[in-house]
Amino acid sequence: MAHDAPQATGPSKLVIRNIGLLLSGALEKPILDADTIVADNGRITAIGRAGDVDTAGATTIVDANGTTVAPGLIDSHVHPVAGDWTPRQNQIGWIDSFLHGGVTTMISAGEVHMPGRPRDVVGLKAMAIFAQRAFWTLRPGGVKVHAGAPVIECEMVEDDFKELAAAGVKLLGEVGLGGVKDGPTARKMVAWARKYGIQSTIHTGGPSIPGSGLIDKDVVLEADTDVVGHINGGHTALPDDQIRCICEGCRRGLELVHNGNERSALFTLRTAKEMGDLARIILGTDAPAGSGVQPLGILRMISMLSSLGEIPAEIAFCFATGNTARMRQLDCGLIEVGRAADFVILDKAQHSPGKTILESVQLGDLPGVGMTIIDGIVRTQRSRNTPPADRVPEIVGP
Ligand SMILES: [Zn+2]
Repeated sequence: MAHDAPQATGPSKLVIRNIGLLLSGALEKPILDADTIVADNGRITAIGRAGDVDTAGATTIVDANGTTVAPGLIDSHVHPVAGDWTPRQNQIGWIDSFLHGGVTTMISAGEVHMPGRPRDVVGLKAMAIFAQRAFWTLRPGGVKVHAGAPVIECEMVEDDFKELAAAGVKLLGEVGLGGVKDGPTARKMVAWARKYGIQSTIHTGGPSIPGSGLIDKDVVLEADTDVVGHINGGHTALPDDQIRCICEGCRRGLELVHNGNERSALFTLRTAKEMGDLARIILGTDAPAGSGVQPLGILRMISMLSSLGEIPAEIAFCFATGNTARMRQLDCGLIEVGRAADFVILDKAQHSPGKTILESVQLGDLPGVGMTIIDGIVRTQRSRNTPPADRVPEIVGP
């Protein structure tokens, strides 16, 4: 079982050298011309060619051996409950398994699988504050889990949102999973949340499990959440004409999830591409779910959207990194000076017919993860979950 990961104890300096391909996470320039990254005390301080950056005094040196470095992947839609255990499929260590799939940050869309989840206002607020605190303190494997996402109920008043925000809650769980399922009430509460700096998302599509309900395009557009949660359904998607209406009828984030309808994900992607709106596409798994827990879910979404959606792989990586970081106001997700030193190091899987990692992903194969780094600290080496890569990075010093 994964335990609370160690934090840095003193000043640290990480150098990653011999990078073969550097993916930035930024749509406007997805590939950077650099082979070295330096991070001091968990923050990126230099990106460049080996001769041009100051690598002296490193406390950790990673030789990338010509592999690919990308920002650590962000899963925009998970349902954590307690530590690294999920009651949904009664599994222990699922977050650590996601780390082996390159995920370094997760965002809760509500702790809805909590057995006996309270639905009264005091109870749901208490649970959200508890989850926010607990996951901020415990980082399974080092993974940053942004949790504490209350599911709104009709009895809530503006002061409840003010109180939640003052207590450190920054997210709403999926609107529609609680008692609020109508547009006008959702709109009013989402606006209250926004007023106090709380970001919102909504369950889009048919019911996910017995007890949840349909949220159609009219409710989605009226609620006006910051993110259109699983626009490709979780699992049941809205009809294509409704998905198009949502894409065209708002400027909010369009979230595609693994535990959704893949055809609808591709339809959304094509629609966003036609509109010149790829910056709105972000990725999640919606795990744990009825279909299980998918440690490689984000890599699978990148590969599926790149291969079947005919998107260059370096762009598809942005959907799971820079796009999400910008939309969610996270300090990670981009290879940029000042950002958190959260990385995934990958290479082409052995025997993939692609000539390069990008070509292999565009052919529908998954890359192999060779290392993950969070806050400048190496968290895992060769992944236990991905197919083995051609080449792997190594820790070579100081
Ligand atoms: Zn949902």
